[in-house]
Amino acid sequence: MQRRHLLGAGAAALASSPPHAHALDFAPRPAPATIRADVDRLVDIAVGIRPFRARGPRIEAERRFGKTLVHHYGHGGSGWSLSWGSAQRALALIQGAGVKPGERIAVIGCGAIGLTTARTAQQAGFKVRLYSRDRPPRVHSSAATGLWTPDSRIVTAEHASDDWIGGWEAMARASFKVHQSYLGLPSGPVEWHDGYLLADDGFDTPLPGHVGEPDYPDLAQRIADLRPHGKALAAGEHPFRSPHARRFTQLVFNIPAYQRLLLDDFARDGGELVQRDLREPRDFARLPERLAVNCTGDGARKLLGDASLTPVRGQTARLIPQPEVDYALIYRGHNLVVVPRRDGLLVAAMGEDDFGNDDLRPDRAQSEDAVRRLAALFQPGAAQAAG
Ligand SMILES: Cc1cc2nc3c(=O)[nH]c(=O)nc-3n(C[C@H](O)[C@H](O)[C@H](O)COP(=O)(O)OP(=O)(O)OC[C@H]3O[C@@H](n4cnc5c(N)ncnc54)[C@H](O)[C@@H]3O)c2cc1C
Repeated sequence: MQRRHLLGAGAAALASSPPHAHALDFAPRPAPATIRADVDRLVDIAVGIRPFRARGPRIEAERRFGKTLVHHYGHGGSGWSLSWGSAQRALALIQGAGVKPGERIAVIGCGAIGLTTARTAQQAGFKVRLYSRDRPPRVHSSAATGLWTPDSRIVTAEHASDDWIGGWEAMARASFKVHQSYLGLPSGPVEWHDGYLLADDGFDTPLPGHVGEPDYPDLAQRIADLRPHGKALAAGEHPFRSPHARRFTQLVFNIPAYQRLLLDDFARDGGELVQRDLREPRDFARLPERLAVNCTGDGARKLLGDASLTPVRGQTARLIPQPEVDYALIYRGHNLVVVPRRDGLLVAAMGEDDFGNDDLRPDRAQSEDAVRRLAALFQPGAAQAAG
């Protein structure tokens, strides 16, 4: 079990390599470009809430107000990663509810889950009207780091039964497949990038827990085949100050480009987007559609009074883009993740009390500290050939 949430996608899995991992990975590589880690290059700080449920996402249908409500929320720190596979599960509930392709359904919410649910329903032949209080970039999904993290704060160890894990794995694999269909597009919604997992004292030492966090199951090995195996690097094979380093390869979501593309595709296929704030459950009854999919994320806490949702605050900051920096960094034990996004070098760090916290005020000092930790990783002029 993972005692705490490790920063970044399956960091535990990144730390271990199978016996055949090194054989093919001997090609010389250019030196990783130096990141200009100065706090005066911070151009934006975003705060978002992860909608965490101890039992995992709620994907279920109920009859209420004479219509079918399909609830589809609670994806914790995995919403972007699992979105497509999760939407396919919601689609099965839509199709099982007696509405026929060609009929219009309502989707509430314009985050990662609402957008992918709407697209999945359109592709199955439904007309879709999206109702949402806010739209990107003013949704929590817009603050996401943008890594393939299908196992991040998605369920507690206590609730991860074999059945649940089997369903999660199917969802992750289905989602992964759809993400691959977004590779190679001009706006780069989905890309693969190399990254470096760094550590001061090896990769096996346990990290301290975070305030209030439950135990999470170790799910990453179930889908370890979905990305290339990592490679341990010797000192001198990387330019970073940390004594231990592994190279990994990781799926990155360029969130603004992905959202824009999904919205464009949705509109092109006849989708309508309506600004609407649902203030009470009865507001579902006021929608003209016979079926509504509730993709309100953390909003369901207030809208439905759903106490099974725990808000988990997260903050991401962006440094001015450096296109020459094409690698991610995870500095284990130093609360630092860097992602080479097209809209900037994204710097993520956890706060001490994120769990149960829905404070949306940016904490600039937290991001500046992370940028200083990043700066310390680069020795002056130390870039040298890696690999
Ligand atoms: C800092 C951070 C980093 C993350 N990093 C990653 C990552 O690297 N990879 C990954 O896979 N996931 C990541 N996540 C998790 C992912 O972003 C979430 O799982 C995802 O945002 C959940 O999407 P959602 O659509 O359910 O919710 P939201 O994005 O919150 O969307 C909810 C939508 O519902 C609407 N809404 C809410 N209430 C109402 C209402 N009453 N009436 C009308 N509309 C309403 C909102 O306006 C919004 O449009 C991260 C999250 C955070 C905060």
